[in-house]
Amino acid sequence: MDFLYQDPYPILKDDTLYKKITTDYVSVQQLGDREILTVDPKGLELLAETTMSDVSFMLRATHLQKLRNILDDPEATDNDRFVAYNLLQNAVVAVEGELPSCQDTGTAIVMAKKGENVYTGADDGEWLSKGIFNTYQKRNLRYSQIVPISMFEEKNSGSNLPAQIDIYAKKGASYEFLFLAKGGGSANKTFLYQKTKSLLNEKSLDEFVRERIMDLGTSACPPYHLAIVIGGTSAEANLAAVKKASAGYFDHLPTTGNMAGQAFRDLEWEKRVQLICQESHIGAQFGGKYLTHDVRVIRLPRHAASCPVGMGVSCSADRNIKGKITKEGIFVEQLETNPRQFLPATAPHLEAPVEINLDRPMKEVLAELSKYPIKTRLKLNGTLIVARDIAHAKIKELLDAGKPMPEYFKNHPVYYAGPAKTPEGMPSGSFGPTTAGRMDVYVDEFQAAGGSMIMLAKGNRSKEVMNACQKYGGFYLGSIGGPAAILAKENILSVEVVDFEELGMEAVRKITIKDFPAFIITDDKGNDFFANLSH
Ligand code: SF4
Repeated sequence: MDFLYQDPYPILKDDTLYKKITTDYVSVQQLGDREILTVDPKGLELLAETTMSDVSFMLRATHLQKLRNILDDPEATDNDRFVAYNLLQNAVVAVEGELPSCQDTGTAIVMAKKGENVYTGADDGEWLSKGIFNTYQKRNLRYSQIVPISMFEEKNSGSNLPAQIDIYAKKGASYEFLFLAKGGGSANKTFLYQKTKSLLNEKSLDEFVRERIMDLGTSACPPYHLAIVIGGTSAEANLAAVKKASAGYFDHLPTTGNMAGQAFRDLEWEKRVQLICQESHIGAQFGGKYLTHDVRVIRLPRHAASCPVGMGVSCSADRNIKGKITKEGIFVEQLETNPRQFLPATAPHLEAPVEINLDRPMKEVLAELSKYPIKTRLKLNGTLIVARDIAHAKIKELLDAGKPMPEYFKNHPVYYAGPAKTPEGMPSGSFGPTTAGRMDVYVDEFQAAGGSMIMLAKGNRSKEVMNACQKYGGFYLGSIGGPAAILAKENILSVEVVDFEELGMEAVRKITIKDFPAFIITDDKGNDFFANLSH
């Protein structure tokens, strides 16, 4: 057989709209008959700083159009429309550049392809990191990176570094980039399944997808851009493809396979999986049609004994942005600067929510909530305590040491969240909910001690939480995941740190809220919105 080399991911075209940010930092030198693109590493710094900054406050026009399509779809449910409308309003606030679109401003990830005729004379990872560092220092973003000091001791790095930077080699004299700001909730919805040939038939694949879609749930703030990759020369290759596919990077792959093993999109299975997602009725967070905006199904070659299957999402903070350096200058993908054009003239008409005053004694608030069924839309007013992972671990340590539950945990509902930096002159930085499921292990013990009686966050809970709520009379309320900027601007009136200040974004805070939107997800009678769906 003749030798045949195949680019494993042959991207057929790049129709990205780029804007030139500078012609500085690039020059061309001749080396024999080779044209060498020389890039001053300061250009890498500028590129990383600009892209990470743009992507924290702006979205792609195609993503915004998909949110608008939900509002225009007569088959969308009221809850689908409510979420889509909130996310569009959020984009309008974020684009002002003060409040990032999501409070989880993510792990900075850079994937690059460097042409063999590109010369920087530097450690490119260092200069890209410097640009990322600058953005997180200068803008109202959040430091989310936790570094291990020993096996069990960890600290916030205070800079959002380290970033993940992967640079590959390619032909030519250009340097291509994909930057992502990947939130924790979104990253946690990446799954790898080590399957076999037995999966590769219509019936098995259909059944597999139907089951696995339920694993996705809503804790990564749908509607999602869902990617499923089947095959791969290794598990790692599979998951790397999942990430790129969810970011739209593989949209222009071929749509058929070949004897050299090129990656391809399976358009028929994309339609089928999209339909399966609609039929799950999970919807855009609280029931409906729009668990996903779109689906990419990518097929890769595999070892005869392996069939890795990867699944992942790009969440409502769809923060993916391309960049490139050529002899013409440094370019970044143009994101949408006018999201308002996607908002309809009037808000979708929805049934009025139930107003709940959280500043009454806890017993009275619980009695009030007990009158309404799951899925009831609420408007919350009053005081919340904000606490998440480390604060919960610390409170558990107190209980384990025989100390009482702090009064603030007994008197107020708890909002699982951690804000981005507060812009000057505003009461709060972007401040949306985090994934509730990580706090599930504490609920029974905390409720037994009189705390966590009303919890507010995003995503589904475990059976243990349902049981605890039934046993102790508690509630879990779902907040829309994603629209952190508009929550900060319209619904959070004040923020004050009340405990564990040293934990930074994970400190315990007391906040005052106004007309804060939520839904009853788990009630005091053993009912749960998500459990009903999976049945
Ligand atoms: S939109 Fe949701 S999943 Fe995405 S980064 Fe924000 S909180 Fe995380």
